[in-house]
Amino acid sequence: MSDTPNDPARRFGCPACGHMLTFNERRCGNCAEDAPVYNRTGFWIGLALTVLAAVVLAIIA
Ligand SMILES: [Zn+2]
Repeated sequence: MSDTPNDPARRFGCPACGHMLTFNERRCGNCAEDAPVYNRTGFWIGLALTVLAAVVLAIIA
């Protein structure tokens, strides 16, 4: 697998070594550091649901 910096699947850099993380990987492929929470799909799903709930509450309140 190539390690091109422009790969759209690699959005975030490892906080420990700067290696570009593959999205949804749990650990850095370079230094095995735990990937940041925002590199996981679940984080963004939770964020979207939270925003959606806030918008719905704002509309019906
Ligand atoms: Zn790393």
